[in-house]
Amino acid sequence: MDTAFMMVTHRCNRICPFCFYTTGHLSYPAREMGEGELMKSLASLDSIGVRRLILTGGEPLLRGETIPLLRRAGELGMARLLLTNGDPFDDHLAAQVAACRIEGVTLSVNSLAEARRLDRCIPLLRNGGATWLTATIVFTGRNAREVDLLCEWARARAMGIILQPAFIPGGAVCLSEFSPHSLDDAGWSVLIPLLDRWAHDAGTTRYAEYIMALYGRGPGARPSSCGMGSDTLVLDADGMVYACFHRRDLAAGNILEEPPEAIAAKLRAAASRVCTAPCYGEHCVSLFCGHQSI
Ligand code: SF4
Ligand code: SF4
Repeated sequence: MDTAFMMVTHRCNRICPFCFYTTGHLSYPAREMGEGELMKSLASLDSIGVRRLILTGGEPLLRGETIPLLRRAGELGMARLLLTNGDPFDDHLAAQVAACRIEGVTLSVNSLAEARRLDRCIPLLRNGGATWLTATIVFTGRNAREVDLLCEWARARAMGIILQPAFIPGGAVCLSEFSPHSLDDAGWSVLIPLLDRWAHDAGTTRYAEYIMALYGRGPGARPSSCGMGSDTLVLDADGMVYACFHRRDLAAGNILEEPPEAIAAKLRAAASRVCTAPCYGEHCVSLFCGHQSI
C-alpha cells in the first residue's frame, strides 16, 4: 500500500451543502480514535508500506492530534498532504504546520470571503517554498461566476488549483439548488472556458472531459481505471479501513483490532474490484479519483 487517506475526524466547523456527510452519502463513524490509537494506526500504516499520508476529515485541524501525526509521519519518512478548509488557521497554528515541513497543503476555498481569510496564513504555510499549496474549488449550480474569481485568486498566489463538481446525491434536499446538473446553458458558458483553461494549464484534460460527460456537456468516456487503484486505502476515524471512500462493502477490518498484514491482504484482494472502475460515477469525480495525474 502506497497511499493512505487518514480521516482524523468526521467533525467540521462548516456545513457545506455538498459535503458527503451533510448529504448523507457517507455515514458518521461509530467513534473516533484517541491520540494513542491514532499514533498506533499510523505505525500500522507504516508497517504495510504506506509512503504517502493524506490527512483529511471532516476538518482535521479541529483535532490537536493532527500536528503530532504530521510530525511523526515525517519522522517515518512519509510524504504528507493536509486537506483542510483552512478556517482553524491563526498565525500560531499555521506556524505549527509549517514547522512540520509537510510537503503539501490543500485548502478548500469555495467563496471569496473564505479565500480572503486565508491570505494571512498562506505565506506562513508556504514555508519558504518547502510546502506546495493547492486550492480545491468546488463548483455548484450556484457559484459558476465566483469560481472564475477564485481561480484568479489562487493563480495570483501561485497556488495549484483543483476544480471539482459538487456531488449531490439524488434525493438530497439541496439537489436542485446546488448540483451542477441544475446549471443552465448560461452557467455552463461561464464554466466551460474555466475548465478548459484549467485542464490545459494543469494537464488534466481527460479528467475535465469526464466531468463534462457526466453533466451531458461532452462525449468523454468512463475512465478505464480508478485513481484509488490498488495502492490506496482509506482509514476512517474509527479505525476501519476501506479500499475506497465509496465502497464500504470493501471493508478490510479495523486497524486497531486486526494485524496490519491481514488488513493489507484484504485490501489486495479488493484491488481488482477497485482499480477497474466499474463503480465510477459523479462521486468519484468529486474526489478527483478518476485520474492518476490529479
Ligand atoms: S469543509 Fe469539507 S468536511 Fe467540512 S463540511 Fe465542507 S465538505 Fe464537509
Ligand atoms: S471508481 Fe469511484 S467508487 Fe469505484 S473504487 Fe474508484 S473512486 Fe471508488
